[in-house]
Amino acid sequence: MQTVGKLMKVFVTRRIPPEGMKILTTAGVRCEVSLWDSDEPVPRADLLKGVQGAHGILCLLSDKIDAEVLDAAGPNLKVISTLSVGFDHLAINEIKTRGIRVGYTPDVLTDATAELTVALLLATARRLPEGVEEVKNGGWSSWKPLWLCGYGLSGSTVGVIGLGRIGMAIARRLMPFGVKRLLYSGRTAKANAAEVNGEFVSLDTLVSESDFIVVSCSLTPETQGLCDKAFFSKMKNTAVFVNSSRGAVVNQEDLYEALTSGQIAAAGLDVTTPEPLPTNHPLLTLKNCVVLPHIGSATYSTRGVMGALSAQNLLGGLQGTDMPSELTF
Ligand code: NAP
Repeated sequence: MQTVGKLMKVFVTRRIPPEGMKILTTAGVRCEVSLWDSDEPVPRADLLKGVQGAHGILCLLSDKIDAEVLDAAGPNLKVISTLSVGFDHLAINEIKTRGIRVGYTPDVLTDATAELTVALLLATARRLPEGVEEVKNGGWSSWKPLWLCGYGLSGSTVGVIGLGRIGMAIARRLMPFGVKRLLYSGRTAKANAAEVNGEFVSLDTLVSESDFIVVSCSLTPETQGLCDKAFFSKMKNTAVFVNSSRGAVVNQEDLYEALTSGQIAAAGLDVTTPEPLPTNHPLLTLKNCVVLPHIGSATYSTRGVMGALSAQNLLGGLQGTDMPSELTF
């Protein structure tokens, strides 16, 4: 493709799906793409060096883009495109003050993340990792009436904290399992909640009445540490807690206490603090805690589409044209 205009410098903080790189390297924008050519996060010092003079940054949720990074990039910086729907790693106020545009990847990962959350809920409630382990280690001696029993969705009350795009997609998938009541909490009632017979309730009601609690809100100053000792103490002893939003929504010490004391039945986490969770973390010693390595959107096709969308967002920002998914502040 013919290239036009001024040379734009772009820093890509990690190897991204080829669909994205192809778009960047064949764009009709004169782009000098500098890639942190690794599957591992770019060290902070290399991030600060790599962004120098950049017009655009394509980053991941593990890259903290704060005033220091923006200062290191300097006045050329027009756009930050993140390969994620969450943007809690971006210093939004600072970015806004400097007039920098932000692209993100909503919608395209909703189905994959909802599907994974349902899988995690079922794996946790029906104790799948424990069962698989017992088959392998010889613990499976016979069919036993009281062995490896868990909790089923049929006739249950499910509470969704944050009935946004992903929360709604989770609710749609759970209802056919025979869920009796679908409660949700958040800042505002949602018109589309009627589709799943969703009842907008206070957080307290949701926590005390749900058999399954699914956290799918965004991480904000209000939701940070939302699931703490007081939260878990209101849950039913038989309830299952699932989080696929961000680790910092949960106080993990309080969760550990709730899981070991029998305050709650089990927990499934796709996200933790920190990530990765150290292999000697107390939560990993518990049979009633299923921890996944933040794989909500990890299907081949979803990651490909996320890569392409983040590249298109970046190009739109560089050219000063429409971005397919621009975050509005
Ligand atoms: P979304 O459509 O913006 O939904 C976010 C929801 O959070 C909204 O319904 C919002 O409710 C709710 N919320 C905000 N503040 C709240 C509060 N104080 N209490 C309760 N709810 C609150 O975003 P999405 O696309 O569904 O994504 C949600 C989050 O999932 C992302 O921010 C990201 O952190 C996480 N995520 C994780 C994975 C993974 O791999 N595990 C993948 C994708 C996304 P209101 O509309 O009422 O404000």
